[in-house]
Amino acid sequence: MGNYPKSPVMGQMMSEPLLISSIIEHADRYCGANEIVSRRVEGDIHRYTYRDCHKRARQMANALGGLGVKMGDRVATLAWNGYRHLELYYAISGSGAVMHTINPRLHPEQIAYIANHAEDQYLFFDLNFLPLVEAFAAHCKTVKGYVMMCARDRMPAESKIANLLCYEDLIEASSDNYEWPLFDENSASSLCYTSGTTGNPKGALYSHRSTVLHSYASAMPDALNVSARDVVLPVVPMFHVNAWGLPYSVPLTGAKMVFPGPALDGKSLFELFEQEQVTFSAGVPTVWLGLLTHVGQNNLTFSSFKRTVIGGSACPPAMMKAFREQYDVEVVHAWGMTEMSPLGTACTLQAHHLTLPPEKQQAILEKQGHAIFGVDMKIVGDDGKELPWDGKTYGNLLVKGPWIISSYFKNEGGDVLEEGWFPTGDVATIDPDGYMQITDRSKDVIKSGGEWIGSIDLENIAMAHPAVQQAACIGVFHPKWDERPLLVVVKKPGAEVTKEELIRFYDGKIAKWWTPDDVAFVDALPIGATGKVLKNRIREQFKDYKLPAT
Ligand code: ADP
Repeated sequence: MGNYPKSPVMGQMMSEPLLISSIIEHADRYCGANEIVSRRVEGDIHRYTYRDCHKRARQMANALGGLGVKMGDRVATLAWNGYRHLELYYAISGSGAVMHTINPRLHPEQIAYIANHAEDQYLFFDLNFLPLVEAFAAHCKTVKGYVMMCARDRMPAESKIANLLCYEDLIEASSDNYEWPLFDENSASSLCYTSGTTGNPKGALYSHRSTVLHSYASAMPDALNVSARDVVLPVVPMFHVNAWGLPYSVPLTGAKMVFPGPALDGKSLFELFEQEQVTFSAGVPTVWLGLLTHVGQNNLTFSSFKRTVIGGSACPPAMMKAFREQYDVEVVHAWGMTEMSPLGTACTLQAHHLTLPPEKQQAILEKQGHAIFGVDMKIVGDDGKELPWDGKTYGNLLVKGPWIISSYFKNEGGDVLEEGWFPTGDVATIDPDGYMQITDRSKDVIKSGGEWIGSIDLENIAMAHPAVQQAACIGVFHPKWDERPLLVVVKKPGAEVTKEELIRFYDGKIAKWWTPDDVAFVDALPIGATGKVLKNRIREQFKDYKLPAT
């Protein structure tokens, strides 16, 4: 909200505030018959239209008013991707309150910490989270009531929770006669806490303006490329950075929406993709691993699936190749973070790339991509000086734009900007065409003999080996070099491979001194609440690991 000088001649256009309620209003008025299909926690498939969704969102907005929820109050959700959650996205933010999505995969203590920090007034939850809510409710100091997102017949006969309300009762008792209020577009709309892998979680507080601008920009052809002809299934949860904005950008375009509920295993996802003829989806690599394994093992093919956005952690090139070559699905690699609403870059080609040979095009598409309009990037050295865009020099990645945070909620962590730029904590290169490639998170970089080794490259190579299901590379102590890379590998079911074979697999693919010193085989990698491999856990597990003498 900078203070900029005013021209003596101001434009004469309407200055309607950019508000989230306008998105569902638009979807209702112009694409009202388009469907929203949900696999419910109750187990069945529910379907209705944008028009129905808007009606129930207005009823819920009235219900919130009746509960005494005021502008700026935080209202929390603990829920999977589904139609009731979507209604809350609009009812809460649209009425001027702040939608606070909480990740149910967090520890109950952490959930209570977040709810107290946010000072949530009400908490809405999916019925299968009742035991979880019972585990932490007593520790939430500000929550006045808990709303179970189901009909009366699913409500428990008794519960430890003091003020337990029923979602469908609230809807039924409320009129749909509701005018979305107009207010300053810079008002807070939603709140999302970072996963807090280091220290306590911090809140990113989005505004109506930032959300609407992010929705416009992220729907564009060289970003998510969503249109009214698409059928979109957001696999990325609505509690993970607002499902990357899809609950806003999809209704904005009028595309049909398909919600998978809690069933994120390969079999359930595949069934829903086929039944509903999904054309577009988005999620983190670990979820796609499950889907690809299911499809591969059962010799299945997709009949409608055309494109998926993969981000949240680096998409292994082997996964892109499998999607493209075996299933004819285009992968758009994207990068962003909670602090960026989340979208920063997407990777699509430009006209002058189209004459390049396929392997060169592929090498570009493996990068995290170009900034979408609204985001600006730069890389700097530890001295803060800007580094060249040559595709080789790597540095700390900084970003700015109208949907990037300027400070955390309640000013946690103080002033986070560096001369107006937000430091992402990622290390990256940028090429002359502006394509950014992440080499690592700065805290995951392997420091060997004063030089940096990017763990993502090493993991991507390992994951291209036919026997490797998943790989993570960490730095472990080395008496001479400080740290050397250790490759931690999960083999594909039934596949065999030796350490020596895997180490030889790096020959010719990477500078010799980057080659991992050793390989450790494990049954599974630790996965965090947002589906990412937890490197800090692996480092802890291997902290006393002795590398073989070389
Ligand atoms: P958290 O920081 O809570 O783990 P975020 O979802 O905000 O959750 O994570 C953002 C980080 O995820 C980025 O800073 C980056 O390190 C990583 N990331 C996101 N997308 C990609 C990608 N396509 N490639 C590599 N890393 C990615």
